[in-house]
Amino acid sequence: MSEDTRSAMVIGGASGIGFATARVLAAEGYRVVVADVNATGARDAAARLGGEVTAITMDVTDEASVRRGFEAEHGVHTVVNCAGLSVPGAITELELAHWQTTIDVCMTGTFLVLKYAGRHTADGGSITCIASLNGRQPGTGMASYCAAKAGVLMLVEVAALELAERGIRVNAISPGLVDTPLVAGAALVPGLIDEYLENTPLGRSGRPEEIADAVAFLASSRAGWMTGAAIDLNGGAHLRRYPDILGRVAAMARTYENP
Ligand code: NAD
Repeated sequence: MSEDTRSAMVIGGASGIGFATARVLAAEGYRVVVADVNATGARDAAARLGGEVTAITMDVTDEASVRRGFEAEHGVHTVVNCAGLSVPGAITELELAHWQTTIDVCMTGTFLVLKYAGRHTADGGSITCIASLNGRQPGTGMASYCAAKAGVLMLVEVAALELAERGIRVNAISPGLVDTPLVAGAALVPGLIDEYLENTPLGRSGRPEEIADAVAFLASSRAGWMTGAAIDLNGGAHLRRYPDILGRVAAMARTYENP
């Protein structure tokens, strides 16, 4: 890829926030590469978006995979990392391997993306990492995810310092509950979504496009003086408290035991 200020790589672009971001950037005239560990999903996403959208396979937990992807797209101007997952569980019960899975994808994956995006993004470009409300707000059952996302926020700040001399801006967006496949399981726990929304001043969950619009802003020259920042994009949920997931799950289990 030659240097082109309207070129973008969206990692985790096969689904949810990443797919919406690829769609919004493509509509704004960016030549978009959708990168995802889900090779079929990335290809399908590119096919659905059409135009100049292409797909590559990238696993953010695999250094060789991340390096290959960025070497192929050297000079890309805008990088967005939306790859993520969460394996929930109480600290006293959480298997080390499950802790590690979330840390690997969300935090180590962000490190690897920043490492190679830092080398291959064009001078003056921008990198945006999707963190989470949970990077600053704790939630029961969310230890690995909260720790990983707090790590993402700090990695973004360090990268912003290190890449500023090349004019590369590095920022984070911290969404609250956004309607995507990632959080579909929350709807299965009685009362959980209601409790979340009661603690959200604007009273609703977010749409993937609302995160994508903020990414488009951060990628643009309108955000040209913005680096090392984190945008709270959550309907005000950071102003209140996170729902008690483990409490809700325990209540659900009691209902099944004593119907
Ligand atoms: P999603 O499950 O719809 O999409 C996540 C994408 O990441 C998928 O396409 C998946 O294949 C990809 N992915 C997973 N592991 C990967 C890996 N190792 N390498 C490359 N790609 C990988 O989820 P989403 O809700 O769109 O989440 C996007 C980001 O937003 C994540 O970082 C998530 O933690 C964050 N986030 C989501 C919410 C929410 O409520 N949906 C809230 C806060 C933060």
